[in-house]
Amino acid sequence: MTMRWWGWGSDDQGFDISTRPRFWPWLQDRLASPELPAQAPVERDAIGCRPVRLPEQVLARIAEVVGEVNLSTQAGDRLTHTHGKGYVDLIEARAGRFEAPPDAVVFPATAQQVAALLGLAAREGFGVVPFGGGTSVTGGLAPRGFEPSRPWVSLDLGRLDGVLEIDGQACIARVQAGILGPKLEEALAGAGFTLGHFPQSFEFSSLGGWIATRSSGQKSTRYGGITDLTIGLEIATAEGLVRLDDGPEGCLGPDWRQLLVGSEGTLAVITEATVRLRKRPERQVHRAMVFPDWERGLQAVRELMQGDRRPAVVRLSDAVETEAFMHLRESQGDGRPGLLQRLVAWYLARFRGIHRQAGCLLVLGFEGRHEEVERDLHGARHLCESLRAFDLGPGVGDAWHRGRFSLPYLRDHLLDRGVFVETFETGVPWTRLPDVDAAVRAAVARAVGADGLVPVLLCHVSHPTAQGACLYYTLLARQLEADAVGQFKRYKAAVTDAILEAGGSLSHHHGVGQLHAPWLARSTGAQTTRLWGVLKAAFDPGGVLPAPPT
Ligand SMILES: Cc1cc2nc3c(=O)[nH]c(=O)nc-3n(C[C@H](O)[C@H](O)[C@H](O)COP(=O)(O)OP(=O)(O)OC[C@H]3O[C@@H](n4cnc5c(N)ncnc54)[C@H](O)[C@@H]3O)c2cc1C
Repeated sequence: MTMRWWGWGSDDQGFDISTRPRFWPWLQDRLASPELPAQAPVERDAIGCRPVRLPEQVLARIAEVVGEVNLSTQAGDRLTHTHGKGYVDLIEARAGRFEAPPDAVVFPATAQQVAALLGLAAREGFGVVPFGGGTSVTGGLAPRGFEPSRPWVSLDLGRLDGVLEIDGQACIARVQAGILGPKLEEALAGAGFTLGHFPQSFEFSSLGGWIATRSSGQKSTRYGGITDLTIGLEIATAEGLVRLDDGPEGCLGPDWRQLLVGSEGTLAVITEATVRLRKRPERQVHRAMVFPDWERGLQAVRELMQGDRRPAVVRLSDAVETEAFMHLRESQGDGRPGLLQRLVAWYLARFRGIHRQAGCLLVLGFEGRHEEVERDLHGARHLCESLRAFDLGPGVGDAWHRGRFSLPYLRDHLLDRGVFVETFETGVPWTRLPDVDAAVRAAVARAVGADGLVPVLLCHVSHPTAQGACLYYTLLARQLEADAVGQFKRYKAAVTDAILEAGGSLSHHHGVGQLHAPWLARSTGAQTTRLWGVLKAAFDPGGVLPAPPT
């Protein structure tokens, strides 16, 4: 499935906003913007692509490695491999700005071809950027550190998409790195297993990309992040293939494979991973509760994670995000809330002290064996109700689960109407969470207010552990069309500075990339950026791959 060059999803897959008539009036009102004018992406044919800078003889050698049909210098392929899927990527793509496209795209079929290509690149002096699913939101697909005049190739791993072996007894699989989420889960499901890794970008992101960015999925509280799921790796360097795999139970020196988890394509190309599997759950249940306020919701999540219940999904929305969800629910006709919805709202306000402007939605998901799910759900409900939550039953939770991959499609509709939309995420210990949250809210109010605009800031807490959680924000504002990138940079800098000053991490699961590089040394210390350089010299001495984001 090929993703749209200007947005999310493929041409035969989208998100029907017309079935959610309450959303636009709500947003326009919140943004204090009665008009949200249409803004279409430029026509594909109007976009130029700079000439290919690789000499013919080098192209011929690349073709010898991967086969002629698996080397493309066509503008279409080069453009779809230029950007990731962050806000600025989409703004640039929609405006037809593709300033530094790759000179060619290659589609190798084997790990040996990947290594041979890296060797050739080292000898011929062109750069290589690994490309998994292309969903990076941190500028991870840019030719970072390459001289502007240096030709480079995008290495698309999409043909390395096989599940090579499933060891059912040990719950382990060997999988090629270019496989996308749906194909991987389908193959594992056929054998009765799951990896349990479901980032929101699941439909279009790859196993190798998850590992390279140290990704975290929506069910990380049960299954862990990709760091926990990766047991072994096969990597390709210019010198050949290397296995970093001392088995699930080994302790042979440092954990070498973890050097590659989060290496963001700078050290080597991940061609294969050995991963932990879990048996497919007998039962899945989703439940939504609404709390009278954010503080009680936070307390419930923290106590839940510090107790002995183990939900798979935990997602607590603040009052504004809760309101946004309610306005995004599908409805018929004029979209006014139905009688039942109005009755529930009246009952909650009148008898439970849960008011529309303050109520915070908590979505919980449990999965596993029947009795385990029943016990944990019962325990969680009991805890939440002791903190004055109201159980909305399975309907809202199931609706969240059905739509769990659809919000990226909504972003395209927002861009179509000239809305600034960006997410910010940080990992925080419970003790610092209130300070970081307050700092982000103040920074957003200041930065967006300085542009004379009204922000709509949605927030949720997810990926919690006993120690802390991820604070995840979505900022909406009217886009300053003539200065869209400048507007983004100001808001990003304001929020990131606020997060770091208040004690949050630079990123919880999006990684570093080009976007966060300016803050890395401040965040992890100069020593760690120096160490990244040492690793680079060891794994990729010829500088074939992008430079570390330091
Ligand atoms: C709408 C949306 C929702 C998202 N939701 C989540 C989420 O819930 N959780 C989350 O963790 N992330 C999320 N992301 C971020 C992104 O999907 C992740 O970073 C993902 O892991 C990237 O995978 P990919 O295959 O698309 O990698 P790419 O975007 O292709 O590459 C990302 C980086 O990894 C490198 N790379 C890719 N493959 C390899 C390889 N085989 N070997 C070496 N380097 C490689 C690339 O060079 C690049 O630096 C989201 C992004 C979007 C746009």
